[in-house]
Amino acid sequence: MNFNDLEVWFVTGAQLLYGGDAVIQVDAHSNEMVKGLNESGTLPVKVVYKGTVNSSPEVADTFRAANNDSKCIGVITWMHTFSPAKMWIHGLMDYKKPLLHLHTQFNKEIPFDKIDMDFMNLNQSAHGDREFGHIVSRMRKNRKVVVGHWSDEKVQGKIAVWMRVAAAWADAQDMRIIRFGDNMNNVAVTDGDKVEAEIRLGYHVDYYPIGDLVAYQDQVTEADIDELVAVYEEEYEWADNCKKGAKDHGQVREAAREEIALRRFLKDKKAKGFTTNFDALHGLDQLPGLASQRLMAEGYGFGAEGDWKTAALYRSFWVMGQGLPGGCSFLEDYTYHFDGEKSAILQAHMLEICPLIAAQKPRLEVHPLGIGGKADPARLVFTSHAGAGVAATIVDMGNRFRMIVNNVDVLDQDIPMPNLPVASALWIPQPNLEIGAAAWILAGGTHHTAFSYDLTNEYLEDYADIAGIELVTIYKNTTISEFKKELRYNDLYYMLNHSLQP
Ligand code: MN
Repeated sequence: MNFNDLEVWFVTGAQLLYGGDAVIQVDAHSNEMVKGLNESGTLPVKVVYKGTVNSSPEVADTFRAANNDSKCIGVITWMHTFSPAKMWIHGLMDYKKPLLHLHTQFNKEIPFDKIDMDFMNLNQSAHGDREFGHIVSRMRKNRKVVVGHWSDEKVQGKIAVWMRVAAAWADAQDMRIIRFGDNMNNVAVTDGDKVEAEIRLGYHVDYYPIGDLVAYQDQVTEADIDELVAVYEEEYEWADNCKKGAKDHGQVREAAREEIALRRFLKDKKAKGFTTNFDALHGLDQLPGLASQRLMAEGYGFGAEGDWKTAALYRSFWVMGQGLPGGCSFLEDYTYHFDGEKSAILQAHMLEICPLIAAQKPRLEVHPLGIGGKADPARLVFTSHAGAGVAATIVDMGNRFRMIVNNVDVLDQDIPMPNLPVASALWIPQPNLEIGAAAWILAGGTHHTAFSYDLTNEYLEDYADIAGIELVTIYKNTTISEFKKELRYNDLYYMLNHSLQP
């Protein structure tokens, strides 16, 4: 997938009070701005100018058309002149997609030596946008407000972030996650209300017995496997025991068989993500680790042990980050390294870490796996590169979904770990392990996360606003006592939330 087929609509608010000439000028300015935005090279999604709206029916028609257009992933509004906001009520009541309010002005600087009332009346978004902002706030509608001149790269950067999030949101509205087996027995934090998830977050979760995948596996030919193993040879370093003729080469071939079957299965079911469960592998040779790693890199959402929420979140992370250089992965808080202010968490999993975050060419290895009672699985082993990133999760709090975000700093793993048979990342959660982990635990966060080097808090704030879910962020300024208060206030807010809706 990519962003080429998507559009963001640009709608300019005005009114006919100033006469037709003014509207013609407003229209010309809007065209020039949209052209400038598209030609800036900073926006990942094409902006399509939809004209000025001057009355309640025009506003309503435009928003309804946006709802019904499958290419349109969101609307940018801008009030060139004063646009009395009662005329936006019906359109906003109907509108269901992400909204960005660009608080800008056609003219960059005031022409102090020439300015007159005609100029003032044509460049009055300073108050026109306040009138519009009032009605959106009065209607309790979430939106992103971006302030600054439209030609400013920083302003365009904020629009670009929102576009990527809006694209992921659109992607989630027909996202199907397939679960092979159920959640790992007795585990609470990765479970939740799948009905509410579909209502609130858009994606749909379906169960399939592992036998259905085994039927696909039976259709995979030796020639199919030869072809995929040749790709592995191209892309990875190989451990000696995996090479052709060596003891574990057969395990690599079985891993390839599983990967081919899984990919075909997901394609046939039009699924965008999947979960596995090491307790539900009847008829498979091994836990599909290598397959999960490679499918994640292709953009399929993945969650281990039936974790469908993280599978969906990973998919959205991947969509948001398309074309950006850092990479993303499913990860799990595994083991601590206590060392004062440098205390860190080793992130890993039994096998399933996405090679998009690898610092070096991944190494294909086969080792025994104590859990699950299956044959030795193939996996890619690597460490991840140093850099800042975000780890996030969504948990079900019973009356709402809560997204928890933690800024983290991934360290160079310069000390070799020759006996660790899995991929890993070593990071310090912000502001440090003591506060970061305590806040995460107080918020009820999972051991599983979706992680990205490319996304920032701004992306996840946009996402939580669009979804209308709770967001708590653990970052460099977090203190435990303030964070506890935030959690308490949020509890109260979400108890009252229904009475706040119009
Ligand atoms: Mn796990």
